[in-house]
Amino acid sequence: MLTGDQYKDSLQDGRQTFFEGEKIDDLAGHPLLGQTVATTAAGYDRFYDPAPDATSPLMTVPSSADDLREMIPLLHEAGMMAHVTYTSIQTLKTAAGRMNDVKPDYIERMDAFIAEAQVNDVRITQCITDAKGDRSLPPAKQDDLDSYVRVVDRQRDGVVIRGAKLHITGASFGHELLTIPTKAMKAGEEDWSIGCAVPVNAEGVRIINTTYAPRHADTRSFPVSGTHHYPEGFVIFDDVFVPHERVFLDGETAFAAVFAHSLGLWERLGGLSAFVEEADQLVGLAQLVAEANGTAGIAHVKEKISEMIIHATLIRATLEAAIENCSVGPEGAAFPNELFTNAGKFHAAANYNHIVRHLHDIAGGAVLTTPSPADFENEQVGELARKYMSTGPDIDGEYRARLMHTIRDLTADSYGGWKFVTNIQAGGGLYAQRIVTRRHYDLDAAKLKALQIAGLAENDDH
Ligand SMILES: Cc1cc2nc3c(=O)[nH]c(=O)nc-3n(C[C@H](O)[C@H](O)[C@H](O)COP(=O)(O)OP(=O)(O)OC[C@H]3O[C@@H](n4cnc5c(N)ncnc54)[C@H](O)[C@@H]3O)c2cc1C
Repeated sequence: MLTGDQYKDSLQDGRQTFFEGEKIDDLAGHPLLGQTVATTAAGYDRFYDPAPDATSPLMTVPSSADDLREMIPLLHEAGMMAHVTYTSIQTLKTAAGRMNDVKPDYIERMDAFIAEAQVNDVRITQCITDAKGDRSLPPAKQDDLDSYVRVVDRQRDGVVIRGAKLHITGASFGHELLTIPTKAMKAGEEDWSIGCAVPVNAEGVRIINTTYAPRHADTRSFPVSGTHHYPEGFVIFDDVFVPHERVFLDGETAFAAVFAHSLGLWERLGGLSAFVEEADQLVGLAQLVAEANGTAGIAHVKEKISEMIIHATLIRATLEAAIENCSVGPEGAAFPNELFTNAGKFHAAANYNHIVRHLHDIAGGAVLTTPSPADFENEQVGELARKYMSTGPDIDGEYRARLMHTIRDLTADSYGGWKFVTNIQAGGGLYAQRIVTRRHYDLDAAKLKALQIAGLAENDDH
């Protein structure tokens, strides 16, 4: 296993990573991106086991509902890079279990890749979303054939790929890019049916980072996003050679969607579990800020918080149902229930804005205008800021200010804006979650119930 320092050193591997017009040669030392390295390194140290044959608990393959359940708090604790790595490993395991009749080599290569990743304790990011060009056209009909990542050359010992995967969370901070098709492919789209693992420092890989991290030296003003931020990356494959042993699909169009569906499932489980955690935080903030404002006993405020509680409880129930109703694949790897995962993730994402609206409504305008922690320390205005942020003898002004800063950081600033878009788009977008939910719902059973209640069922005696 790697220590945090070894992880930091491992990033000095010649990777070509860019931020705001500059190539970054020292990620760990960068004033903004270095915070992501530090958080990820802390996650390594937290789970480090010095035993020579130890492997990270974050990289295990669950085989039961209990295993799935136990991983959730560990992944929240370990942070985003551990989450995307776990999701990548489970994606490969779930996909392998669904790839009957494909070349056995592929399954062996996936297993070997997972085993190597576990031994080396690397971090893997999920590269699925292509640039996609004109959304109404398939890959082979695009003006630019590189709009979807494709094979441009097949050589004796491997393939050469070209294209770009966009919005990849943490791409510059991991070691491996799990690169898989973003959608189902048809005959004639063999070159775009490519699944493989590419090291971040492979020749021809370039990553352009963006981040919602606040450009602010004082993390007290940004208690959530000030340290915990994971830049997304445009990952560009500019004619990158991938040896055969790292190719998991090449040309078998019928299996292209298996990867996307498997990743979607795991990504949405992770998304749902994050929503569940955060829903409780939002309820807690609403209650605390109502108490601090003196409005906790007012009827409409209580109603809004009750609605938030119902939302938090219902999405927790879908997470639990997704885990409890898991299935186990042919190799013994457990995967969550598709129906509950997708319905829960959709509901959590689609109703997030409504829940945050209640929080903003309850909290008031100070969410945006509360003076900064530095203002509270200023000799001329600090005490006045404290006085006017206070709402009574029991509510210290600075305490109330910290609640407001947390609400702003979570929901109304750079990170909050990022979340509004991410909630709708991540995990394949709401559209994809709707489709998968519908596919796994028993519509025939529902129709039968409708026919029965209408007295129209075949064997109905009415
Ligand atoms: C913060 C963030 C992190 C992300 N992290 C990752 C990651 O780690 N890895 C990764 O691979 N991806 C990641 N994504 C990408 C995410 O999965 C996509 O944004 C999402 O799938 C939508 O794709 P798009 O952005 O290209 O939008 P589009 O595909 O352009 O979608 C925009 C709208 O158009 C609709 N649409 C587009 N094409 C069609 C069509 N043919 N038929 C019907 N409707 C259509 C969509 O349903 C949607 O409503 C991330 C996204 C965000 C915002």
